[in-house]
Amino acid sequence: MELDMKVIEQMIQQALKELNEEQLKTAVSCAPVEHYGIFETMDEAVNASSEAQKKLLFSKMADRQKYVDTIRKTVLKKENLELISKLAVDETQIGCYEHKLIKNRLAAEKTPGTEDLTTEAMTGDNGLTLVEYCPFGVIGAITPTTNPTETIINNSISMIAGGNTVVFSPHPRAKKVSQLLVKMLNKALMEVGAPANLITMVEEPSIENTNNMIENPKVRLLVATGGPSIVKKVLSSGKKAIGAGAGNPPVVVDSTADIEKAAADIVAGCSFDNNVPCIAEKEVFAVDSICDYLIHCMKLNGAFEITDSALVEKLVALVTTEKGGPKTSFVGKSAKYILNQLGITVDDSVKVIITTVPKDHLLVQEELMMPILPIVRVEDVDTAIEYAHEAEHGNRHTAMMHSKDVEKLSKMAKIMETTIFVKNAPSFAGIGVGGEGFTTFTIAGPTGEGLTSARSFCRKRKCVMTDAFSIR
Ligand code: NAD
Repeated sequence: MELDMKVIEQMIQQALKELNEEQLKTAVSCAPVEHYGIFETMDEAVNASSEAQKKLLFSKMADRQKYVDTIRKTVLKKENLELISKLAVDETQIGCYEHKLIKNRLAAEKTPGTEDLTTEAMTGDNGLTLVEYCPFGVIGAITPTTNPTETIINNSISMIAGGNTVVFSPHPRAKKVSQLLVKMLNKALMEVGAPANLITMVEEPSIENTNNMIENPKVRLLVATGGPSIVKKVLSSGKKAIGAGAGNPPVVVDSTADIEKAAADIVAGCSFDNNVPCIAEKEVFAVDSICDYLIHCMKLNGAFEITDSALVEKLVALVTTEKGGPKTSFVGKSAKYILNQLGITVDDSVKVIITTVPKDHLLVQEELMMPILPIVRVEDVDTAIEYAHEAEHGNRHTAMMHSKDVEKLSKMAKIMETTIFVKNAPSFAGIGVGGEGFTTFTIAGPTGEGLTSARSFCRKRKCVMTDAFSIR
């Protein structure tokens, strides 16, 4: 296919050379769109997106839903799902192929479509008023290395369902897989009659190109899914912005919990995609009376415990930078790989590295995005909740609790104020893997949209008809 496109491009260029100026203008306006959403400059990507949005605005809701269904179907095609999942791991060197398959499938299947755009109607003596979710226009969406394809799938469905088009600004380290997916989706969309360029991006993603996107006046809404720096940047842009930022999700386990289940759930959630999901368990606060048994059960489920404090500090030095953040080369690596670098050989059954540390330890306080799980022993459940609240740093992102005490579960849910609060299950239940409800890969705690879906990317507008259409 790539080759065919190149040949066609060369033929077009040759033909254009042979035309005079008047013919050239006509030819350019009729030239087929074969870049499938990938443009050399940000201005071109935004302009193409703006043209596409004008067309989308006048398409029927049934068409928008058809485009959503097309994205789902394209991603769920076995060979496409496998390709993007594999390339994401190969290119970013982050995460685990089998879990990328689950996450990409989840994004395609469980992101809501146009059904999310409910209409409110008010009638009375003064007639009829409708309030509807309407598009913003062109959206500039910044995506993370940790969920490169999941975020593109999830955002594309939500944004197009809302009548918007989207210009993506992926991380440069996820360039190839993002381009592959954007091309794949545009091609499939065009085949079902959608306007070209509903989804665009540039050939060379960079900070400069992201800045150009942020500053382009045709981009009406910015959506940043990533760490604190990009969230701060879009929020300082002077435009409407949605910020889906970092988390550091704590888990509390109290003495009433089903400890065997809690241990299995924590290991499963923490090791999912090698701990890169922003919702994944990052630190545990366990009540002293059950802590030893919890550790014992975690070990039965694939946890490797480090008890030697000198080795813990060696591990910290290995995986963190001088500033205390995670070393990029260790983000999303497996427990087996990390232990190997530490000189410890284990087999594939090891999923998570655990160690008990004091609550102020760097492993507790930093979002590392690798399967190293610090455990803090606490006297009682109230202290556990207090420490969990501190370690979450006010991100209001995600938290978990394993307990049968309804009062304490409610207390923690209230105090944490997180967008996602999971009770007695792995964190991924919160995004719809083994839990009810829709999924999102853009969890906007800082700006309050929380679980984003089509309506989050829309403006609420009112349409008023006086003195008619109240039929009561
Ligand atoms: P990152 O912040 O390094 O990068 C995210 C995106 O922002 C990338 O596209 C990057 O190129 C861009 N970016 C970062 N700083 C920038 C700057 N100063 N100017 C322009 N562009 C900039 O994050 P990452 O490592 O790719 O992703 C992991 C982070 O994202 C974690 O903190 C994780 O918690 C967070 N995350 C949050 C959610 C959520 O829904 N809240 C989802 C996924 C990831």
